[in-house]
Order: sequence, then structure tokens, then C-alpha cells
Amino acid sequence: MSSLPDSVSATLYVVATPIGNLADLTERARQVLSAVNIIACEDTRHTQRLLQHLGLRKPMLSVHDHNERERIQQVKDHLDQGHDMALVSDAGTPLISDPGYPLVQALRQAGHKVVPIPGASAIITALSAAGLPTDRFTFEGFLPHKSSGRKERLRAVSQDTCTLVFYEAKHRILYTLADMAEVLGDQREAVVARELTKTFESFYRGTLMDIHAQLSSHEDHQKGEFVVMVSGNQSPSPASEIDTERLFKLLLAELPPKKAAAIIAELTGENKKELYQKALGWKDA
Ligand code: SAM
Repeated sequence: MSSLPDSVSATLYVVATPIGNLADLTERARQVLSAVNIIACEDTRHTQRLLQHLGLRKPMLSVHDHNERERIQQVKDHLDQGHDMALVSDAGTPLISDPGYPLVQALRQAGHKVVPIPGASAIITALSAAGLPTDRFTFEGFLPHKSSGRKERLRAVSQDTCTLVFYEAKHRILYTLADMAEVLGDQREAVVARELTKTFESFYRGTLMDIHAQLSSHEDHQKGEFVVMVSGNQSPSPASEIDTERLFKLLLAELPPKKAAAIIAELTGENKKELYQKALGWKDA
């Protein structure tokens, strides 16, 4: 393959693809996709459309959440046979809330060469134009689907002072914004980016309550794909400064592990079951 760098063994290229606007595919991504022998992709039909746009025909291997671990050996075998491969997801950068982590981890552990081909990712695209602080941010990906799990996760990050970034699907966006307003405070400033790089790209700004109202005002505002960015906590409560491990141990001296774990979970947003296991571990020790 003349357009790829020389390497002793074959390489897996982790290739970012557009998040909506096909013109965002980089020149390097195009070169790599046309040069590799096989393309591992999340959904072969989806990637087929991208390849058609590029005028390419390539063997594809599906690698998604449900078969990724079985595919690892097949990918290793291809690389050992000298076949260069690309890994792409349906949109954006693979492994970012997308399949690929077990594969890349296994290949790195086995000493294979893995090369990133950077490009679009919804999180960086959204942050770059939101107007919220970007010097420190936490990427939380998708929140749990159930409201109870979602609120638990939100409680765990409610004291964080850096910008919080979440991905969300259209059928959950209003529920998630409502839970955010309840747990993080309805006056917390936020920006929601919808349909980035696409025809109906929109940014909604204001407090969580304002944004919930803006999106509720017409069903068109609930269509498409969303990145939710929430300002960090401007006045974290002193509770965050409590030494929770010490408090947990003090409570354990007075209460059964289940009760102590429930109180700490409520206070910190940590998982109740994990705290309970931790308490049992301390007791055994
Ligand atoms: N790997 C992708 C990346 O690098 O951004 C993310 C894949 S994840 C399965 C899909 C989620 O990313 C969507 O539900 C949405 O939250 C966000 N997303 C992807 N494309 C987007 C777009 N064009 N506008 C807004 N959000 C987008």
C-alpha cells in the first residue's frame, strides 16, 4: 500500500468519520480508507453508504457492542496475515460512546500497531462553539436510561466545578433535561447543541429550566441528535469537602452496613450496592 507509512506488521487505523456533513471527512481519512484491505465497522450498511460516497468498494467486518469480543481474534488474524485494517463507527470518532475499546485494548496488549486518524467528534464540535468554559470538562457520555439511575449519576457529578458534557437521544432529551434541572438545579446554565454540522444545527442556551422550555415549545426542537453541556457548579456545597470515607466508617460503627451505605450514597451520589460491598470489605478486614 503506497500511501500508508511503511510498517513491519499490519496496522489498525482508528478512523474518525463525519457526524453529519460528509465534507468533514479528512483527506487523510479518505486516503487510509482507500488504502486498507478491510474495514471493521459498526454497521456495514451505514459504512457502505460512506464508501459509496467515496467511490470505494472494500471488504467489511462488522464490529459492534454485541460481537466485539468474538471479533478480536479475527482482527488479530487479519493483521498477522499482513492485512491493514481501518476501524470506523457510524459517526464521529470510534470508541467515543461507540464500539472499539475492547478491540483496541486487546491489540495494544498484544503489541499490534494502532494508529489514530483524527476527525470529527460531537463532544469537541459542540464544546468548540458553545461558549462554556473548556479549560476543564468532564465527558459523561450517555446517562442511564431510567430516571432513578440517571439522577444517581447526576448527583455524583453535581458538585463538579468543571463543564459537564453528555450525549443524549431524541426520545430522552426532555426527561434528561428535567432530571438535570431537578438534581443540578433549574438555574444552572447550560448549552444544548442539536444536529451539529447538519442542516438544522441549533444551539439552545440559558438555564436548564429555560432550555427545557425552549425544547418543549415545539416538537421540531426535539428531533435529531443532542449534546448537552452544563456549567460546572459555581458554588459547590461544603458537603463535598467532608471526608466521606471517614464519615462512612464512623456511621458503620453505629449503623448496619446497608443503612450506612444508603446514607453515603444519598450524600455523594455513589452507587449504593458498591458502597455496601466496600463496607462489607472493611468489616471483614
Ligand atoms: N463517536 C461519536 C462521536 O465521536 O461523537 C458519538 C457516537 S454516539 C453513539 C452518538 C451520540 O453522539 C448521539 O446520540 C449524540 O448525542 C451525539 N452526536 C453524534 N452526532 C451528533 C450531531 N451531529 N449533533 C449532535 N450530537 C451528535
